[in-house]
Amino acid sequence: MMELRIQLIPTGEIILSPGKNGENYCHGCKVVASDGVRAMMESALTARDRVGVQDFVLLENYTSEAAFIENLRKRFKENLIYTYIGSVLVSVNPYKDLEIYNKNHMERYRGVNFYEVSPHIYAVGDNSYRSMRTERKDQCILISGESGAGKTEASKKILQYYAVTCPASEQVQTVKDRLLQSNPVLEAFGNAKTLRNDNSSRFGKYMDIQFDFKGAPVGGHIINYLLEKSRVVHQNHGERNFHIFYQLIEGGEEDLLRSRGLERNPQQYQYLVKGNCPKVSSINDRSDWKTVRKALTVIGFSEDDVEELLNIIASVLHLGNMQYGGEDGNACITSDTQIKYLARLLGVNGAVLTEALTHKKIIAKGEELMSPLNLEQASSARDALSKAVYGRTFTWLVNKINASLTYTDDSSKHYSVIGLLDIYGFEVFQYNSFEQFCINYCNEKLQQLFIELTLKSEQEEYEAEGITWEPVQYFNNKIICDLVEEKFKGIVSILDEECLRPGDASDLTFLEKLEDTVGGHPHFVTHKLGDTKTRKVMGREEFRLLHYAGEVNYNVNGFLDKNNDLLFRNLKEVMCMSENKILNQCFDREELSDKKRPETAATQFKASLAKLMEILMSKEPSYVRCIKPNDSKQAGRFDDVLIRHQVKYLGLMENLRVRRAGFAYRRRYEVFLQRYKSLCPDTWPNWEGKLSDGVATLVKHLGYKPEEYKLGRSKIFIRFPKTLFATEEALETR
Ligand code: ATP
Ligand code: MG
Repeated sequence: MMELRIQLIPTGEIILSPGKNGENYCHGCKVVASDGVRAMMESALTARDRVGVQDFVLLENYTSEAAFIENLRKRFKENLIYTYIGSVLVSVNPYKDLEIYNKNHMERYRGVNFYEVSPHIYAVGDNSYRSMRTERKDQCILISGESGAGKTEASKKILQYYAVTCPASEQVQTVKDRLLQSNPVLEAFGNAKTLRNDNSSRFGKYMDIQFDFKGAPVGGHIINYLLEKSRVVHQNHGERNFHIFYQLIEGGEEDLLRSRGLERNPQQYQYLVKGNCPKVSSINDRSDWKTVRKALTVIGFSEDDVEELLNIIASVLHLGNMQYGGEDGNACITSDTQIKYLARLLGVNGAVLTEALTHKKIIAKGEELMSPLNLEQASSARDALSKAVYGRTFTWLVNKINASLTYTDDSSKHYSVIGLLDIYGFEVFQYNSFEQFCINYCNEKLQQLFIELTLKSEQEEYEAEGITWEPVQYFNNKIICDLVEEKFKGIVSILDEECLRPGDASDLTFLEKLEDTVGGHPHFVTHKLGDTKTRKVMGREEFRLLHYAGEVNYNVNGFLDKNNDLLFRNLKEVMCMSENKILNQCFDREELSDKKRPETAATQFKASLAKLMEILMSKEPSYVRCIKPNDSKQAGRFDDVLIRHQVKYLGLMENLRVRRAGFAYRRRYEVFLQRYKSLCPDTWPNWEGKLSDGVATLVKHLGYKPEEYKLGRSKIFIRFPKTLFATEEALETR
């Protein structure tokens, strides 16, 4: 007698289903079951009703947004935060610790096919890893979603998964440790408490993990994007500066603070009080300080490096507290205390620094003159110095981490890569400035990439291969990318032009120029160009972009300055003479001799995004789409309106429609045949005829049903993942 074991997984991922006359079916086979089993099945079915489907592709009413959201809600209520759309993982931030990230869970997902286990971030990590190993193709995992949706947590979980499950030697262990420890360091310097997220990444991050031929992580490389430097000198109400400042002040040892002239009270520092939020209940600055200190050592920072790094952080705090006075309108520094500390911490001459903070060097008729600054100019020169010092130190930090992660084994330069992208999501605030403009532009580019790699390429491939299917409508946002980045006519070019134009160029002339140049663009509106309704809600200093994700009004105030990102020449000169070993590397003397203007911030960002797109295009992508369930960081609250908006701009419904219309897997004939030919006596060991005939023979032998696959011009298309998995299993058990 054959024993039938039926596993009823409590999450409702049932494998049996009842037929009309009370019989039961499992994967299409009739199963005779006792009453007891039937009762269990029924309860499992009820469970499924309760918890929804684990892949949106299985939704009956798959075109309905309401059904989509209902499925998310059901699962969220049951703490099932992950759901697939085919191979895309949708994740809803639970805002509470779930017991699903321990070692047992990691083991459960290791080397197991996607559909055999419930959806999980580990499954995405494992799938990319296995594709990299078996297909020898570099992978990337793109994690997107708005602030607080869980991107950084997701990327950390993937990294932890690799650290635990990948093979390790002693040398590899060091790399794993360094990869993991790079996170607390970068978060200390690049994350901050915002209104939306207590640990918000204020920079974009792309991290390559390099694996050797054995599949062990042997190195890494990080690219950072556009740190929000303005936060160093200003924070909105309820927000904080970067974590590291508070960590040092709360956690730094007594003598460490004393020697740098610091007090253990964040409220003493102008750069830390603007948001009126020194303490955050979810953050323990003191213990975080210890973690960061340890992490710096693991990564390989010397004591000297750390000392210099702390000098820099302290110097920024002193810069913020600099007191200016001046009777005749010219700024002068009224207290020596800060300058004394600054001179020592920055490793520069105090008198020269004082002059550079209160004067501007101008060259008139070939002669150098020092022109005094007024109070306002002096404080903005000081803020520019703080931002430059902090921003460049951050880049130095990333470079230093990269040096410690560099793959050094010369015997084989060949390694495979999995890239992790954790980059800021679409941002819409009450007041949107240059930073939001850049961030939202970045999201347009990522959406373009998604369209290119997933929607457009999928449709084009079916057409090219002669496969019949129903095309899916989607909005191609290329028109918005062009509006921003087109040479000469795009917003970035126009901004640069105004930044370079001598004379009366200002934020408002930039706005006027935009109106003249792109005023007729369907995705661009200003107060002047808008209808009566628009005028009511738009300020005169704003322009509106109709992004793929929604409308955003940008206030042009500060655009020119932020784009120029200039540091007065004499301040640069002082910094180039710095004896602080880190700053010495950050401020290069060549900058002074260079007659060419440095590239503007927007142009640099545009170039770095173009490079990022190139990197991502060369890899096989996986997507993790993160959703924030509510705006109050609360566990268990599912806010419909907020979620609907995210489902819309993450393009999830389009994604689902394409997925339903299409085929889950495709393989080139030669690859498919090579991999599975051993399963069929007619194709093994060598198939002599046409490749497509070989594949046809093979799948016939494997018992594929006509609705399960299609043969294109050069590839086989397989509709359901389970078909391929069954073949993979046959290979393993052969
Ligand atoms: P930002 O764009 O602001 O950097 P983000 O998308 O990176 O936002 P995270 O920092 O990853 O957001 O997540 C915000 C917070 O949500 C975390 O600090 C954590 O408290 C909670 N969180 C996110 N993901 C999870 C998870 N899987 N389990 C438990 N809590 C989570
Ligand atoms: Mg983040």
